[in-house]
Amino acid sequence: MNNRKTLHYLPLLLFCFVFTITQAQETNSFIEGLLNKMTLDEKIGQLNLPGAGDVITGQAKSSDIANKIAAGKVGGLLSLTTVEKIREVQKIAVEKSRLKIPLLFGLDVIHGYKTTFPIPLGLSTSWDIPLIEKTARMAAQEASADGINWTFSPMVDISRDPRWGRVSEGSGEDPYLGSEIAKAMVRGYQGDDLTKNNTIMSCVKHFALYGAPEAGRDYNTVDMSRIRMYNEYLPPYKAAIDAGVGTVMASFNEIDGIPATGNKWLLTDLLRKQWGFEGFVVSDYTGVNEMIAHGMGDLQTTSALALNAGLDMDMVGEGFLTTLSKSLTEGKIKIEQIDNAVRRILKAKYDLGLFDDPYKYCDVNRAKKEIFTKENRYFAREVATQSMVLLKNENQLLPLKRTGTIALIGPLANTSENMAGTWSVSTEQSKSIALLEGIREVAGKKVKIHYAKGSNLTYDAELEKRATMFGKGLNRDERSDAELLNEALEIASKADVIVAALGESSEFSGESSSRTNLEIPDAQKDLLKALLKTGKPVVLVLFTGRPLVLKEESKTVPAILNVWFPGSEAGLAISDVLFGDVNPSGKLTATFPQNVGQIPIFYNHKNTGRPLQNKDGKFVKFTSSYIDESNEPVYPFGYGLSYTSFNYDNLQLSSDKMSGNDTIKVTVDVSNTGDFEGKEVVQLYVRDLVGSVTRPVKELKGFQKVALKKGETKSLTFSLTQEDLKFYNYDLDFVAEFGEFEVFVGGSSDTTQKATFTLE
Ligand code: BGC
Repeated sequence: MNNRKTLHYLPLLLFCFVFTITQAQETNSFIEGLLNKMTLDEKIGQLNLPGAGDVITGQAKSSDIANKIAAGKVGGLLSLTTVEKIREVQKIAVEKSRLKIPLLFGLDVIHGYKTTFPIPLGLSTSWDIPLIEKTARMAAQEASADGINWTFSPMVDISRDPRWGRVSEGSGEDPYLGSEIAKAMVRGYQGDDLTKNNTIMSCVKHFALYGAPEAGRDYNTVDMSRIRMYNEYLPPYKAAIDAGVGTVMASFNEIDGIPATGNKWLLTDLLRKQWGFEGFVVSDYTGVNEMIAHGMGDLQTTSALALNAGLDMDMVGEGFLTTLSKSLTEGKIKIEQIDNAVRRILKAKYDLGLFDDPYKYCDVNRAKKEIFTKENRYFAREVATQSMVLLKNENQLLPLKRTGTIALIGPLANTSENMAGTWSVSTEQSKSIALLEGIREVAGKKVKIHYAKGSNLTYDAELEKRATMFGKGLNRDERSDAELLNEALEIASKADVIVAALGESSEFSGESSSRTNLEIPDAQKDLLKALLKTGKPVVLVLFTGRPLVLKEESKTVPAILNVWFPGSEAGLAISDVLFGDVNPSGKLTATFPQNVGQIPIFYNHKNTGRPLQNKDGKFVKFTSSYIDESNEPVYPFGYGLSYTSFNYDNLQLSSDKMSGNDTIKVTVDVSNTGDFEGKEVVQLYVRDLVGSVTRPVKELKGFQKVALKKGETKSLTFSLTQEDLKFYNYDLDFVAEFGEFEVFVGGSSDTTQKATFTLE
């Protein structure tokens, strides 16, 4: 802006400045006024987040929770839904409690509300940031229409360990992509104005490092260096904070020997002092109580530890409610600490506009009109098609022709309940579209479709039970394995092509669903082998909440379409892709290993002093490698095929030197060289060749999803500045260091097309 323009805008700038200050003063004086009126018990009550419990049963007026709300002992409620119930309960808070402070209503709105999108790992493989933002926007629209004002999302835990079941809930292994998605989700939920009745408060979780438990076992110990935290695991949480997320959830795991819920370094020094977070921090479900089992003391001790560490709200366990007053009397905590927590929670309620209108999310008409609408479901179908990753397509077996006979076989082929995937608590499972239903609708009249289950999920009935909890059963078939198989082979014999719908059930991944064996479950693996033996072409439609071990299938099965759990419109979206109405464009965001022994395996690893000598699978002794297995993954980060093919050419940098505030333009020509129009995710990686600390062999620094018609070429431009080259050094300063950098561009992390420049 030149000087004259600045002068011109000065009155406006001044007005905005004064307006913001006045607004902040108004908020503060409102909150301080309220705080001054509160008794100690009422203050502690604001820090309490119980589960909705018996309120749900409709006895709101007389239940234990209702009494607590009326007594001012509740700050918010977990997992209550529908406008009618929420209105009834909010009424207790604003009419019966002394200070009439409205409640927050929090729910796990994770990948959609009733209209359900693919699981978050699947959303991430779309690499489509505006699309992901829109899913969060739509989820907020639906959830707020049903009374909810707070969601426990986004989950941004980086994970490199697919044994951990919760990889399904995150965005994979990369901090850059994870950060972009974190910001988009926060923007989507919170919009530009939290006081609107269709935006909700977001909660970034699980702070921090929850995705790195030892051996991939959920809730297990985390232990990592600070430099790895800062460079590889913390960026997405920070991105969410920078995007203005209202709340943060502390994770279950320990960090440096202290559980996150009671970790002062984490919740105060890092989060508040270094990152400037001003919202409130909530524990995870009974996180304060769980510190007893961690070995941190009794409930009074762990509650005081958590409050002193910087935790503001206690989810479900009521440790704060039952012990803080005693701890205050005994001098174990200070009243300032309680006051600060109350201030932050009241501020969140103020920002949501609840003090102006506590019923602003309780409009029955909105609930009727805005949830699970035709338009929303249509969008969910589109999103699901964008999340699917074509892993293999020998001889262009896909897309399927709209003639002939298809044998649709597998325990995942006809199950609505398993389509939405894990953490879809609001989905009406029976309304999700199973593959059998979808394929019948999309295939057209000229295609005959026969269906057989073929096998149960697993041979082990007990394991199947554990993997199909929460009403997501697969109706275990009591016929013998041989009978199931024979029925499948019978229909296969009459078919031109077999579509095998196999993999994990919805709850095989997700919370508390860690696995040590990442193969397709045994019964289905045998079924697949038998189907392949028929000699008919087999398309594997793979349902999974995590990277699986596909070493064998990647060699034996001609076509593999990884569909994750696609959401409420699953069957239609899968069929759209199978028949080529939509060309798949998803790319993996987590590495698929050869076997469990290779884990953790991820693309942005360090080089070591004895790096692999070649990348063609040949073994060279005394290098950092395995002697009994290929040292490459089955499918790397960023990988994914299309029905068409793309060619990269003419990679150029605008300069081979960068200094100061320079921007280097990276250009590349991408051409569609195949027979279909399609989209390609063009990825840009950087390698910092020499550093004061060792640097990864590649780091994602940019990507663009581009649509190309048959024969079309587009020239794409990426910009690189010093900011993109920064990392945390040994002293944890965020710096770019002089020296040589390599820039790689391509359609997968294993691209070798590169150019170099020097930062000086
Ligand atoms: C999970 C959180 C979730 C919370 C509330 C916990 O078990 O770890 O991700 O938000 O429950 O439902």
